[in-house]
Amino acid sequence: MSETCNPDLDLLVAARLAELRERITAAGGREVTVLPVTKTFPVEACWAAYRAGCTAVGENYAQEVVAKFDGTPPPFGIHFIGQLQTNKVRMLAPLVSVYETVDRPSLVRELAKRVPGAQVLVQVDTTGEPGKGGCPIDDAAQLVDGALEAGLRVRGLMTVGPTEGGAEAARPGFRAVRALLDRLGLEVCSMGMTADLEVAVQEGATQVRVGSALFGRRPPATASVR
Ligand SMILES: *Cc1c(COP(=O)(O)O)cnc(C)c1O
Repeated sequence: MSETCNPDLDLLVAARLAELRERITAAGGREVTVLPVTKTFPVEACWAAYRAGCTAVGENYAQEVVAKFDGTPPPFGIHFIGQLQTNKVRMLAPLVSVYETVDRPSLVRELAKRVPGAQVLVQVDTTGEPGKGGCPIDDAAQLVDGALEAGLRVRGLMTVGPTEGGAEAARPGFRAVRALLDRLGLEVCSMGMTADLEVAVQEGATQVRVGSALFGRRPPATASVR
């Protein structure tokens, strides 16, 4: 793999990123990082985001990360934002810069073993919806402590809003996660996606994870990318 360039895509992504930053500013966000979510998009999308000024991308599927980057870390970071099975940690270790979905002690142990000192976020479940991952908010402080004791660098918290109910439905969960972040004295608050990023910014997100607003409709994930 070397640098992959699609000039039309570069222009489109740069323009959409500018629009996205306007949305964030309009919502009152000042120092909010945009993490472009490139799952199921070709690797050109990652490079386009990088060339538009983003310093990391978000990916959900272990197999896809390895296939896209062919074992060679790119000059930008890769945040793993999908549900993470412990048996996938080893293949991701050379490529992933931040693990955003740490939600159970077994995953803490595996990361501490395979990626000592890894940068992580603890994912909090604010919806109770299956398939989203995250630990119950009441368990998050203990998981943060456990991760710190295991030598992981816990940078903050991450959560995913509800699928149904519109952006407002996400507000109570986002607010609770930000309050916990402050109580724990952590920095990074990763919340908000294309549909609910304004609410997330209003509730104190320091990073939004955005796919479709930057890259358009996402091709479905196939079994082979996971
Ligand atoms: C896919 C995904 C996103 C981006 O979703 P969009 O609606 O396309 O912005 C953000 N966070 C997580 C955890 C995701 O899986």
